[in-house]
Amino acid sequence: MSDLLARHRAVMPNWMALYYNEPIEIVGGKGNRVVDANGKSYLDFFAGILTNMIGYDVPEVREAVERQLATGVVHTSTLYLIRSQVELAEKIARLSGIPDAKVFFTNSGTEANETALLLATYARGSDQVLAMRQSYHGRSFGAISVTSNRSWKNNSLSPLNVHFLHGADRHLVQFRGMSDADYIAACADDLRHVLATAVTKDVAALIAEPIQGVGGFTMAPDGLFAAYKEVLDEEGILFISDEVQTGWGRTGSAFFGIQNHGVTPDMMTFAKGLGNGFAVGGIVARGDLMDGPHAVGLSTFGGNPISMAAANATLDYVLDHDLQANAARTGEIIISGLREAAGRLPVVGDVRGKGLMFAIELVDPATGAPAPALAARFMEETKKLGLLAGKGGLYGSTLRMAPPLTLTEDEAREGLGILVTALETVNDEAR
Ligand code: PLP
Repeated sequence: MSDLLARHRAVMPNWMALYYNEPIEIVGGKGNRVVDANGKSYLDFFAGILTNMIGYDVPEVREAVERQLATGVVHTSTLYLIRSQVELAEKIARLSGIPDAKVFFTNSGTEANETALLLATYARGSDQVLAMRQSYHGRSFGAISVTSNRSWKNNSLSPLNVHFLHGADRHLVQFRGMSDADYIAACADDLRHVLATAVTKDVAALIAEPIQGVGGFTMAPDGLFAAYKEVLDEEGILFISDEVQTGWGRTGSAFFGIQNHGVTPDMMTFAKGLGNGFAVGGIVARGDLMDGPHAVGLSTFGGNPISMAAANATLDYVLDHDLQANAARTGEIIISGLREAAGRLPVVGDVRGKGLMFAIELVDPATGAPAPALAARFMEETKKLGLLAGKGGLYGSTLRMAPPLTLTEDEAREGLGILVTALETVNDEAR
């Protein structure tokens, strides 16, 4: 065990998961690669944790932060006017497609979801909320209440009354073999049934991730949320799209993940990539909801000038370089290459994804059961070959990848080569 790991273990809780048998200390980064304390370089196929959306040491971001620091003015809080905050809010409101949108900044995705839930429950005067099975929305009491992934949920001290919906669980026996249209109809029917039989009063909102991140990049078929929205609209229930992982063009086919479903939500929450490593999150919502009679409060650090400088520079970079189109192009190279390899490697149970958000599900070749041990083995192999990925899913058997949106086509092919080599190794070992 390294000295740093021993010190980490001594003063940090054991539930703080560390990747790899010998965890990596990242000490530097440039472009889409990072370097560890031993000088080994890795192609970062997880963009930090979807945080370094445009890579590392980006001059535009560094210089924007340095310019802000050089002013000597780092007042944080929402009590004074902050120009960069207003400018960023204007851009996000415009990009959101939400009518008369207004924006409130936080420091994290958890806080953003907490704010959206507060707003929705205040606005509707109800503690009843709908969420999706397999979801993950954060670590606060409200966010954990709408999370249904057992790995992250240890008790039932929920401040909200939550009902969980189908939508990302086509593997369940009752849905197998169904067409997209039939599955969507079955899910909408289930929602109507929940509203008719399970809830005890008005429901405030549905919160959902367009592609479930921590849940293993599980995807509802395009159109599912449009079917849900139709039912929600009949009942006046608000729809919150959690875009913490799916925002800013990552899916290639839309700027926000929910737009793949042809839906305009009432609110969207965001965080992770927007600050390219600097802490920034927030909520963009319909103006009439934001301006409602119930104040949600202020934020001391939300919207601070350093994060705003980084976020404005990052968002401008994404737009100026049309990184959504790049995500579509490079993602297609990798996803189609993985699908091709999957055809000859029984250890691969599924390849799924959109743009630069894709996953590989590893299974026991004999039984088809989820294989977390093989996923752990695959992680070690890709690390050895110089590529960082994410692990997760309901059973710990999913490799999740979300490279920076700046990934080049050469890097996409290089990464694909590493992934396929690692899959071949694990497949040989598993036979
Ligand atoms: N929502 C989603 C979809 C996430 O993936 C996460 C974090 O992984 C969160 C919310 C919580 O964000 P944070 O860790 O910034 O609090």
